[in-house]
Amino acid sequence: MQEVIKKVLINEEQLDKRIKEVAKEISNDYKDKTPVMLCLLKGSVSYFTRLCENMDIKLVYDFMKASSYHGTESTGEVKVTVSPSMDLKDKHVIVVEDIIDTGLTLSNVMKILQSYEPASIEITTLLDKPARRLTDGINPKYVGFVIPDEFVLGFGLDWDEEYRNLPYVGVLKDEYYK
Ligand code: 5GP
Repeated sequence: MQEVIKKVLINEEQLDKRIKEVAKEISNDYKDKTPVMLCLLKGSVSYFTRLCENMDIKLVYDFMKASSYHGTESTGEVKVTVSPSMDLKDKHVIVVEDIIDTGLTLSNVMKILQSYEPASIEITTLLDKPARRLTDGINPKYVGFVIPDEFVLGFGLDWDEEYRNLPYVGVLKDEYYK
C-alpha cells in the first residue's frame, strides 16, 4: 500500500500531539458557546474525529460536502452535494478542513456559509500550504501544520479516493504527481 509514498511527512505521534494542542486551544476559546463543528467531507473525517474527541466542551457535529478535485489539480469549482443538516443561523460555526491549498474551494464554501448568517465562523485546517494560495480572503484561525508545496495523502487525504486510511500524512512520489 505504501508503494506510492515518497516519505512520511507527519507521523502518528506528531499528529496526535498537535491535534491535542489545537483541541485545547479551541476548547478554551469556545467555552460556553457549544460550537457547530462542521466537517467538510471527505478528507477532513480523520482530523475532525480526532479533534472533536479531544475537545472538552459541549459541541455539535454537522457535515457538508462541497469540493471537486480531479487528480492533483484543483479546479476551484465548487459543487455542494451534502448541505449542513442544521440551521446555522446565530450559531458559532467552526469549519473543519483537511488542507488549504489554493483556498478557492474554501472561499466558495465560506460564501455559502455566510449566507446562513451564523453568529461567528472560523476555520481550522489540519494542513496549510500557503505558498499555493490564490485568494487572500482565507485566514484559518487554527492551523495544525504548515507544509511545503507537495501532494500529500493519508490521515483522511486521498489520492484518487484511495489511501485515506493511512494513519500518517505522506508525500506522493514525484512520478505520480501530475
Ligand atoms: P483548494 O481549493 O484549496 O486548492 O483545494 C482544497 C481541496 O483540494 C482540499 O480540501 C483537498 O481535498 C484537495 N487538496 C489540496 N491539496 C491536496 C494535497 O496535497 N493532497 C490531497 N490529497 N488533496 C489535496
